[in-house]
Amino acid sequence: MGGCSSINGLVYARGNPADFDEWEQMGNPGWGFKDVFKYFLKLEGMTIPELKKSPWHSRKGPLTVSYSRYYASVIKDMFQAGIEFGMKPIDYNGDSHVGVSYAQTTSDGVTRASSSKCYLDPIRKRPNLTVFKNTLVTKVLINKKKRTAVGVRCLTSGEQYDIMAKKEVILSAGAINTPQILMLSGVGPKEHLEEKGIPVIADLPVGKNLQDHGMVVLSFNQENFTEECEKQYGDDAAYNYAKNRQGVLTSNNLAILAYPNNTQAPDLPPNLQFTFAAENFVFQTAPGTCLTGLVVNINPKSRGTVKLNTTSIFDAPLIDPNYYGVEEDLDITILGVQQIYKYLKAPILSKYGFSNFTFEACIGIQNEIDYIKCTIKYQTTTIYHPCGTTRMGSELDKSTVVNSELKVHSIKRLRVVDAGVMPRITRGNTNAPTIMIAEKASDIIKWTYFGKF
Ligand SMILES: Cc1cc2nc3c(=O)[nH]c(=O)nc-3n(C[C@H](O)[C@H](O)[C@H](O)COP(=O)(O)OP(=O)(O)OC[C@H]3O[C@@H](n4cnc5c(N)ncnc54)[C@H](O)[C@@H]3O)c2cc1C
Repeated sequence: MGGCSSINGLVYARGNPADFDEWEQMGNPGWGFKDVFKYFLKLEGMTIPELKKSPWHSRKGPLTVSYSRYYASVIKDMFQAGIEFGMKPIDYNGDSHVGVSYAQTTSDGVTRASSSKCYLDPIRKRPNLTVFKNTLVTKVLINKKKRTAVGVRCLTSGEQYDIMAKKEVILSAGAINTPQILMLSGVGPKEHLEEKGIPVIADLPVGKNLQDHGMVVLSFNQENFTEECEKQYGDDAAYNYAKNRQGVLTSNNLAILAYPNNTQAPDLPPNLQFTFAAENFVFQTAPGTCLTGLVVNINPKSRGTVKLNTTSIFDAPLIDPNYYGVEEDLDITILGVQQIYKYLKAPILSKYGFSNFTFEACIGIQNEIDYIKCTIKYQTTTIYHPCGTTRMGSELDKSTVVNSELKVHSIKRLRVVDAGVMPRITRGNTNAPTIMIAEKASDIIKWTYFGKF
């Protein structure tokens, strides 16, 4: 049963079943939705009353999922506006992905449910588990002759240690840092490693195929302010949270998720996600407004890269997300921004007097599409969903790094278990599918050593 909780939950979104069927079709047997659904159920501790008994959900998993305990009036109105805009209320982790919903969050309604709290905390005292704090893995130790990973090199408080693996090494440093560690260990694109003077052990497309959700952060002018709007993040909010476990600080700021029909064909899964928060993310430019709208193309075709900057683990890698590298991604995003503008015209929102906030660089642009393009240019940032940099697939597919058992091609005893293995980004937020990957990986690893059970 769910029941772990730090402040403020993350959006809980599995993606669309088609995401995983596509993974399977891309050469990954066992990763279709019919196979991964049981892991989504295994991880989930659903506490939302109306969803607890749904066949799409489970109450028994460690990761607590709830709605927020508090919604500002503008959030309730944004939900209603979605209905007025023509959307139906949905459980986007259930049988319908097109419509509007309050965000399901990894939280117990007051505090965040993270993988650390929900998975690590309960087993911290196990004798076969050692967690090294403040420790940086600098490389994977690989026996070059045997093409086998034998351990990892670490730095703790300036001291270097080699930790040797009895069975295998599993990297879970995320879609940016796992590629960094692999490349520093000699596993990566030959040309790039040679350019950096790193001896090549395996020539693999590590760091290529970076996928991320770029989000356009839209800000609005607001004619009429509500008292609640102005007060909600004041000192009272902190006091109310600390004393009563109530108020805005119990809530996920990204409170409404809306998925319009696919812009290319309505029978395809949605390709846009709108998110609304009852606060102004663009502090410098539009003070006072209590609404932010995010437009995200959730099925982007553009691909970026993660490369080494230097050969030091302390130097952050170079990340090029290449948002809108493919023209179609820009076209879909333009349609998304246009739709949000219409969404804001819902009658229930007229009392706020919202109008578009024009960013300085876009002032004076008359043509609507050029104006939106300008807004997209200045207001696109990451929603922090990097994945795909060690993508999973058949060894014959030269764009992949790990196989469907998450083992690095051509190196023995080395696996990757993190968002980097996603062959294609999911049509939703990436935390839940990453935990699903970890759940499935734990079964794969058990099967490897103990056989099917
Ligand atoms: C600000 C922010 C908000 C987000 N909001 C949401 C949301 O609302 N909903 C959602 O679904 N997703 C959200 N995400 C995305 C989600 O957090 C990620 O998809 C998910 O955490 C990916 O998991 P991971 O295991 O691949 O990587 P991570 O969670 O990044 O884990 C990698 C771990 O490896 C450690 N590490 C890295 N390098 C080294 C090294 N050299 N040595 C030792 N340890 C190392 C890191 O410290 C980290 O603990 C958000 C992400 C961010 C950053």
